[in-house]
Amino acid sequence: MNHPNVAIITGGGRGIGAATAKLFARHGYAVCINYKSNTKAASHVVQEITAQGGQCIAVQADVSLEADVLRLFATVDQQLGTVSALVNNAGILQTQMRLEEMNADRINTILTNNVTSYFLCCREAVKRMSTRHGGQGGVIINVSSGAARSGSPHEYIDYAASKGAIDTLTKGLSLEVSAEGIRVNCVRPGVIDTDMHADGGEPGRIERLKNVIPLQRGGLPEEVAEAIYWLASEKSSFSTGNYLDLTGGL
Ligand code: NAP
Repeated sequence: MNHPNVAIITGGGRGIGAATAKLFARHGYAVCINYKSNTKAASHVVQEITAQGGQCIAVQADVSLEADVLRLFATVDQQLGTVSALVNNAGILQTQMRLEEMNADRINTILTNNVTSYFLCCREAVKRMSTRHGGQGGVIINVSSGAARSGSPHEYIDYAASKGAIDTLTKGLSLEVSAEGIRVNCVRPGVIDTDMHADGGEPGRIERLKNVIPLQRGGLPEEVAEAIYWLASEKSSFSTGNYLDLTGGL
């Protein structure tokens, strides 16, 4: 069955991706949430959406791997229909450290998970959405980070640089496909209350930073989801190649 509005949300099992999946489902999208290993969290999101009458599937796929990305998109073709909105959201960071402590394995892991993955998913989405390939158009929203601007010194410059690459991907791809029915934008969240900070070795990072955030608090995944949904909706119909910052003023 081919649903008219199909969204793929990478990393949709937890955090910003899970909030985005629930919001898109509430707006009538058939949603595919992708995740890497936490099946329990992804199943929980599927259950929550379907209990409210929405349509949602979860697909395990490591989006840094080309074969997994091909399988993810093929599964969505078969089970939901042609993707009309891609939210590139899956991402990782690693333990906070200075650059002189980083080895090549770490840097490559960050780049394949945060950059190669977005490129591969964009490619598969464009093949399906572009009028050049007979598609009906669509929207792509990349989740970058305020780190692309701050550079994250003393924490994770590698992560920040990976998000800088996403800003450039957003700009270049938006111009490449703007006459083919596809809008490409990005959101740049600041400090958002998710599990990610624990992966950096500092679960209490928001508590440490909240006084330097002009709004005096961390953001919620739901606040980022609203911006992502706006960029997917026709309400942002004149926006492409743009960056929407959600940083509480930081
Ligand atoms: P999170 O709570 O740690 O969740 C990350 C999600 O990404 C999980 O569902 C995880 O799957 C999935 N994932 C990671 N690597 C993957 C891979 N290779 N293939 C498939 N799925 C993968 O993170 P979050 O805080 O919501 O972050 C979401 C996005 O927002 C990221 O791109 C992050 O860089 C960005 N961001 C976050 C913040 C913040 O303060 N939290 C700020 C700025 C930007 P599993 O559940 O299976 O592990």
